[in-house]
Amino acid sequence: MKNTRDNKAMKWFTPDELTRSETAHRLGIDNRPDGVVMKNLQELVRHVLDPTREMWGRPIRVTSGYRCTALNAAVGGSRNSQHITGRAADITVGSKAANERLFEMIRRSALPYDQLINERDYSWIHVSYAPCGRRQVLAL
Ligand SMILES: [Zn+2]
Repeated sequence: MKNTRDNKAMKWFTPDELTRSETAHRLGIDNRPDGVVMKNLQELVRHVLDPTREMWGRPIRVTSGYRCTALNAAVGGSRNSQHITGRAADITVGSKAANERLFEMIRRSALPYDQLINERDYSWIHVSYAPCGRRQVLAL
Protein backbone atom coordinates (compact mmCIF):
# COMPACT_ATOMS: atom_id res chain seq x y z
CA MET A 1 0.00 0.00 0.00
CA LYS A 2 1.28 3.44 -0.89
CA ASN A 3 2.05 5.93 1.82
CA THR A 4 1.17 9.53 0.95
CA ARG A 5 4.05 10.92 3.00
CA ASP A 6 6.55 8.69 1.24
CA ASN A 7 5.21 9.78 -2.14
CA LYS A 8 6.07 13.35 -1.26
CA ALA A 9 9.45 12.56 0.27
CA MET A 10 12.69 13.55 -1.34
CA LYS A 11 14.83 10.49 -1.84
CA TRP A 12 18.20 11.64 -3.13
CA PHE A 13 18.30 15.32 -2.20
CA THR A 14 18.00 17.14 1.12
CA PRO A 15 16.45 20.53 1.94
CA ASP A 16 19.88 21.55 3.23
CA GLU A 17 21.70 21.04 -0.07
CA LEU A 18 18.90 22.84 -1.92
CA THR A 19 19.11 25.94 0.27
CA ARG A 20 22.69 26.18 1.53
CA SER A 21 24.85 28.87 0.00
CA GLU A 22 28.38 29.97 0.77
CA THR A 23 27.53 33.42 -0.55
CA ALA A 24 24.54 33.72 1.77
CA HIS A 25 26.69 32.58 4.68
CA ARG A 26 29.46 35.03 3.84
CA LEU A 27 27.08 37.98 3.41
CA GLY A 28 24.85 37.10 6.37
CA ILE A 29 21.80 36.55 4.14
CA ASP A 30 19.01 34.46 5.65
CA ASN A 31 18.23 31.98 2.87
CA ARG A 32 15.79 29.80 4.80
CA PRO A 33 12.78 28.86 2.66
CA ASP A 34 9.19 29.52 3.67
CA GLY A 35 6.46 26.92 3.29
CA VAL A 36 5.62 27.78 -0.31
CA VAL A 37 9.25 27.61 -1.39
CA MET A 38 9.70 24.32 0.49
CA LYS A 39 6.73 22.84 -1.35
CA ASN A 40 8.19 23.99 -4.67
CA LEU A 41 11.57 22.47 -3.80
CA GLN A 42 9.86 19.18 -2.95
CA GLU A 43 8.04 19.22 -6.29
CA LEU A 44 11.28 19.96 -8.12
CA VAL A 45 12.94 16.99 -6.45
CA ARG A 46 10.01 14.64 -6.83
CA HIS A 47 9.26 15.37 -10.48
CA VAL A 48 12.72 16.14 -11.86
CA LEU A 49 15.75 15.77 -9.59
CA ASP A 50 15.03 12.38 -8.00
CA PRO A 51 14.02 10.75 -11.32
CA THR A 52 17.11 12.29 -12.95
CA ARG A 53 19.30 10.84 -10.19
CA GLU A 54 17.65 7.44 -10.62
CA MET A 55 18.31 7.44 -14.37
CA TRP A 56 21.86 8.74 -14.01
CA GLY A 57 22.72 6.16 -11.36
CA ARG A 58 25.49 8.21 -9.78
CA PRO A 59 25.67 11.23 -7.45
CA ILE A 60 24.54 14.61 -8.74
CA ARG A 61 25.69 17.74 -6.91
CA VAL A 62 23.46 20.78 -6.47
CA THR A 63 25.55 23.96 -6.68
CA SER A 64 22.60 26.35 -6.27
CA GLY A 65 18.97 25.69 -5.45
CA TYR A 66 16.68 28.14 -3.66
CA ARG A 67 17.83 31.76 -3.58
CA CYS A 68 15.93 34.40 -1.65
CA THR A 69 15.76 37.70 -3.55
CA ALA A 70 18.75 39.13 -1.66
CA LEU A 71 20.89 36.09 -2.43
CA ASN A 72 19.73 35.99 -6.05
CA ALA A 73 20.75 39.64 -6.45
CA ALA A 74 24.09 38.96 -4.73
CA VAL A 75 24.96 36.21 -7.22
CA GLY A 76 23.75 38.23 -10.23
CA GLY A 77 20.75 36.01 -10.96
CA SER A 78 17.99 37.10 -13.32
CA ARG A 79 15.18 39.03 -11.61
CA ASN A 80 12.68 36.45 -12.83
CA SER A 81 14.87 33.50 -11.88
CA GLN A 82 12.99 30.36 -10.91
CA HIS A 83 15.61 29.90 -8.18
CA ILE A 84 13.71 32.62 -6.23
CA THR A 85 10.61 30.45 -5.96
CA GLY A 86 12.49 27.22 -5.29
CA ARG A 87 11.59 25.82 -8.69
CA ALA A 88 15.11 25.59 -10.13
CA ALA A 89 18.44 23.99 -9.33
CA ASP A 90 21.90 24.21 -10.83
CA ILE A 91 23.50 20.79 -10.96
CA THR A 92 26.80 19.25 -11.95
CA VAL A 93 28.36 15.82 -12.13
CA GLY A 94 31.92 17.07 -12.07
CA SER A 95 33.13 17.79 -15.61
CA LYS A 96 31.86 19.51 -18.74
CA ALA A 97 31.93 16.21 -20.64
CA ALA A 98 29.88 14.44 -17.98
CA ASN A 99 27.52 17.41 -17.66
CA GLU A 100 26.90 17.23 -21.41
CA ARG A 101 25.99 13.53 -21.13
CA LEU A 102 23.65 14.29 -18.21
CA PHE A 103 22.10 17.18 -20.14
CA GLU A 104 21.42 14.96 -23.16
CA MET A 105 19.97 12.26 -20.94
CA ILE A 106 17.53 14.74 -19.39
CA ARG A 107 16.70 16.32 -22.77
CA ARG A 108 15.82 12.97 -24.31
CA SER A 109 13.86 11.80 -21.25
CA ALA A 110 10.14 12.19 -20.71
CA LEU A 111 10.72 14.22 -17.53
CA PRO A 112 8.31 17.14 -17.05
CA TYR A 113 11.00 19.80 -16.68
CA ASP A 114 10.12 23.42 -17.35
CA GLN A 115 13.51 24.69 -18.50
CA LEU A 116 16.73 22.81 -19.16
CA ILE A 117 19.66 25.15 -19.71
CA ASN A 118 23.23 24.40 -20.75
CA GLU A 119 25.12 27.07 -18.79
CA ARG A 120 28.46 28.27 -20.14
CA ASP A 121 29.34 25.31 -22.32
CA TYR A 122 28.19 22.69 -19.78
CA SER A 123 29.94 24.28 -16.79
CA TRP A 124 26.68 23.44 -15.05
CA ILE A 125 23.10 22.55 -15.88
CA HIS A 126 20.11 24.64 -14.83
CA VAL A 127 16.92 22.63 -14.56
CA SER A 128 13.52 23.73 -13.32
CA TYR A 129 10.10 22.29 -12.66
CA ALA A 130 6.71 23.94 -12.91
CA PRO A 131 3.28 22.41 -13.31
CA CYS A 132 2.66 21.97 -17.05
CA GLY A 133 6.40 22.19 -17.69
CA ARG A 134 7.33 23.71 -21.04
CA ARG A 135 10.28 21.37 -21.66
CA GLN A 136 12.17 24.34 -23.01
CA VAL A 137 15.82 23.65 -23.88
CA LEU A 138 18.28 26.56 -23.97
CA ALA A 139 21.98 27.33 -23.96
CA LEU A 140 23.33 30.42 -22.21
ZN1 LIG B 1 20.17 28.27 -12.43
